[in-house]
Amino acid sequence: MNVNSKELFMDGKFVPQEQGVISVRTHAFAYGTGCFEGIRGYWNEEQQQVYLFRAREHYERLLNSCKILQIALPYTADELVEISIELVRRNGQKQDVYLRPVAYKSQMILGVNLHGVSDSFLITSEPQGNYVDLGGMRCGVSSWRRIDDNAMPARAKICGAYVNSAFAKSEAMQNGYDEAIMLTNEGHVSEGSAENIFLLMNGAFITPSPSENILLGITRDTVMKLAQREMGYQTYERQIDRTELYVADEIFLCGTGAQIAPVVEVDHRAIGTGKVGPVGKKLQDLYFDVVRGRRADYREQWCTPVYTSVAQHS
Ligand code: PMP
Repeated sequence: MNVNSKELFMDGKFVPQEQGVISVRTHAFAYGTGCFEGIRGYWNEEQQQVYLFRAREHYERLLNSCKILQIALPYTADELVEISIELVRRNGQKQDVYLRPVAYKSQMILGVNLHGVSDSFLITSEPQGNYVDLGGMRCGVSSWRRIDDNAMPARAKICGAYVNSAFAKSEAMQNGYDEAIMLTNEGHVSEGSAENIFLLMNGAFITPSPSENILLGITRDTVMKLAQREMGYQTYERQIDRTELYVADEIFLCGTGAQIAPVVEVDHRAIGTGKVGPVGKKLQDLYFDVVRGRRADYREQWCTPVYTSVAQHS
């Protein structure tokens, strides 16, 4: 990540980047007791505008994560969107950006309880390009199982839970793949290390249901809506077997970071033709039009402009 922002938001104030430090005794540092979001802002050259994509939904999810972790965040989702807008403005960022809000247990105490531990909140904003290769990923099913809701709920975007993702991602990369696909303890398909997964089979999309220990992705929701409204594909949320991956017509991963990343190989089996499929490509193009605010209908609904005076074109 390219850290060249002037300011970040921390404990109620905008402060210079160098003041964004925490103590070695911080609870969240020792135990992973924080939760976070990743929000993208897309630069639209023609409109000279940065659009934050579905920022409100990200903050609603953060508030849910906080509820699960017993963190009292003293802001509403709308206030958090306003703070985010101001942060990007203060940093003068006129490019693609990535915002990272983190709510965490900040008290300097030993003891693993969630209750009675004071918390803090910060947001950083950095320039950001693509997180993964969008031209066809090679994936491996991980030997690491996805964390279970009754052990470490994937529904909440908990800092410590990303150790599970890191095990899977490193194993995949060290075995020569680009990304991991994790299974649940029962052996059904769950998700990538930081992406939800969709299969195209028999003319419909299928994706693991919310009870398959997935993070309920904002991009997942965006994909289901765009697929239905713009491309005529219905999505079925259901249990997916590992070997359905091998025989799918197309597969793609999706997430704020990954965007729409087609998968061309799983466990050395070519998916479809072994090249990026036409449906994944079409969806990827559509997604980029929508997130960059090039589609007036979706811009209204999902894209929050950062800068005030802007020429609006469709
Ligand atoms: N699953 C996991 C584990 C993730 O970390 C992410 C990225 N936030 C996603 C799915 C995709 O979620 P979203 O589309 O909201 O970014």
